[in-house]
Amino acid sequence: IFLIGLAAYLYTEVFSRFLHTALPYRVSAVRRLNGNTTEVTLSPQVKRLRHQPGQFVFVRFPEDKVMDESHPFTISSAPAEESLRLTIKASGDFTRYLHRNLREGSQALLEGPYGLFQYQLGGLKQVWIAGGIGITPFLAFIRHGHLDRQIDFYYTVRSREEALFLDEIEAAAKRYLNFRAFVRFSLEEGALTLREVMTKSGDLRLREIYLCGPWGMIQSFTTELEELGVPTAQIHYEEFNFR
Ligand SMILES: Cc1cc2nc3c(=O)[nH]c(=O)nc-3n(C[C@H](O)[C@H](O)[C@H](O)COP(=O)(O)OP(=O)(O)OC[C@H]3O[C@@H](n4cnc5c(N)ncnc54)[C@H](O)[C@@H]3O)c2cc1C
Repeated sequence: IFLIGLAAYLYTEVFSRFLHTALPYRVSAVRRLNGNTTEVTLSPQVKRLRHQPGQFVFVRFPEDKVMDESHPFTISSAPAEESLRLTIKASGDFTRYLHRNLREGSQALLEGPYGLFQYQLGGLKQVWIAGGIGITPFLAFIRHGHLDRQIDFYYTVRSREEALFLDEIEAAAKRYLNFRAFVRFSLEEGALTLREVMTKSGDLRLREIYLCGPWGMIQSFTTELEELGVPTAQIHYEEFNFR
C-alpha cells in the first residue's frame, strides 16, 4: 500500500507537471476596449483547444519576463470560433503590465480548459448576474448562442465607460424572446439589489442563479439568496480572485 501511495504521489506531484502540455498560440490581435480592459485574440499554432462556454484557461506569454507567469482567464469567445478571445481587466501587476505592453505577434502558452461554470448544466429558468469584468463567462454564453433557457441577465458596472459589449447583449435580447438583459450603472443608479432582481424575475427559489464578479458581490448575493431560501445547489458562482 505504501508503494502504491508513493507511486500515486510521484505521479500527481512530479510527473504530471511535465506531462501537462501547454498549447502554443499566437497573439493575433490586441484591442484596448477602455482605459483598463484589453481584448486579446489568440490563434492556435498547432491545434485548437476544445472547450465549453464558461470555461477558463491559464495563459502565459513566455517571451516576456513579467508575463511569463500563468494566470487564469475565462474564454470570452464562443467555442466554435477558430481564434480564442480573452477579455482582461487591469487589476494588479500582471494585468496592468499586459494592458500596457502586450503586442500582436507574441507567443502564448495555454493550459486548460478548466471549470464547471456552465449554464447548460442548469435548469430551465435562470438568473445571471455579472459584476464588472465578471461579464466574461456570460459573453461566452451569449456568443455561443442557442439560448434555450428562460434567462434574466443582470449586468452591473460602475459607469458607462466600464460597460463592455452592450451592443452584443442588446442584440441577443432582441434575438431571443426568452432572454432579457438589464444593465445597471451603479455610480449613477446605485448598487443592484436582490429586491430589484425579484421584482423583475419573480420568485428566485424557482431559478437557477449564476453569479460572476468580485468576491464581495458574490458573497453578499449568495448570503441573501440563501436567506431567501434558494437551495445552495441552485446557486453557481465563479469568483475572479486569483489569490
Ligand atoms: C477562474 C478565473 C477566471 C478569471 N477570468 C478572468 C477574466 O475573464 N478576465 C479578467 O480580467 N480576470 C479574470 N480572472 C482574474 C485574473 O486571473 C486576475 O485578475 C489576475 O490573475 C490578477 O493578476 P495580477 O498580477 O494582475 O493582479 P494581482 O496583483 O494578483 O491583484 C489582483 C487583485 O487582487 C487584489 N489584491 C492584490 N493584493 C492583494 C492582497 N494581498 N489581498 C487581497 N487582495 C489583493 C488587487 O487589488 C487586485 O484587485 C479570473 C480568475 C479566475 C480564478
